Amino acid sequence: MNILLSGATGFIGQSLLETLSQNSSHPLSLGNHKIYALVRAIKPNLSADITQVTLDTLPNLDAKIDVFINLAGENIASKPWTEKRKHELHESRVTLTDAVRASLKHPPSVVVSMSAIGFYGVSKDGIFDEDTLPESGFAHDLCKAWEASAKAFESAQTRVVIYRLGVVLGKGGALEKMRLPFKLGGGGPIAGGDQWFAWIHIQDVVKAILSAVTDSDYQGVYNLVAPQLVKQKDFAKAYGSALGRPALLPTPKWLLTLIFGEMASLLTEGPQIIPKRLEKQGFDFSYPDIALALQQIEHNH
Ligand code: NDP
Repeated sequence: MNILLSGATGFIGQSLLETLSQNSSHPLSLGNHKIYALVRAIKPNLSADITQVTLDTLPNLDAKIDVFINLAGENIASKPWTEKRKHELHESRVTLTDAVRASLKHPPSVVVSMSAIGFYGVSKDGIFDEDTLPESGFAHDLCKAWEASAKAFESAQTRVVIYRLGVVLGKGGALEKMRLPFKLGGGGPIAGGDQWFAWIHIQDVVKAILSAVTDSDYQGVYNLVAPQLVKQKDFAKAYGSALGRPALLPTPKWLLTLIFGEMASLLTEGPQIIPKRLEKQGFDFSYPDIALALQQIEHNH
């Protein structure tokens, strides 16, 4: 099978490639399939087993792509949401997905594309499953357009799976940025800590992506969050405990709003989100418990 992977150099892309290269018995192991990484510029640090393509060279690719795994996107939380940044966030997701669809000579059999729980907006009330009506706002608009672009692949030949990700916990990503403040004893409840913290272990993300490729029962939009609902203050306590540091220092909402502007809502707000469709499908979460997930990550750090 030929697999096109965007975002191969990122946190999730690297974990996915690591799993496929280490596990020769997996049906998608690298030994049995060819991976094409869609990059914006050729990367010297990607394995020689992986063929690198850009949006310019993709239309000339003779090989038929069977699977498109779409992980690319400028980091949503690394810079304030100025109009310029909003444009970059949109281009690196929506425009890129549109461009891949326009470039492939043959429709792939499966497309697995990411989205985020930002789709639901920032409401504190109610429980959100895949069918709940979202609130509007920049994060919602971005996710909606990104999902629509992935859904446009859908046809009699192409099955599309979209994952609305919670905060992915692993060696890298958001946790890596929080690690030092927590190590220094500076972690703690943010903006009171009563907002919900939808999270998922990186190994469950990789597992869900691979299940979506290999299992034809997967189709449509899924919340990819752990089934255990925790508040931000519970996460802070569990992470402090996994690091052997108390997480007591509170960060007020006004300070985050001052520093991050509109983007502060990513930290200070959070609705209650459940993985209804994944549970219905019998997905077996390897890390359903936040304390155990964080201990496993820190144990392997
Ligand atoms: P990372 O920020 O670690 O990696 C992003 C990847 O996207 C990199 O490979 C990067 O390539 C690539 N990329 C960025 N901009 C472009 C562009 N304009 N054209 C081509 N490639 C681009 O993200 P993650 O691996 O953590 O996440 C993967 C996806 O899942 C992202 O879209 C993210 O928004 C989404 N997501 C992640 C969550 C998380 O907690 N990790 C939560 C919710 C959603 P390069 O090496 O060139 O920079």
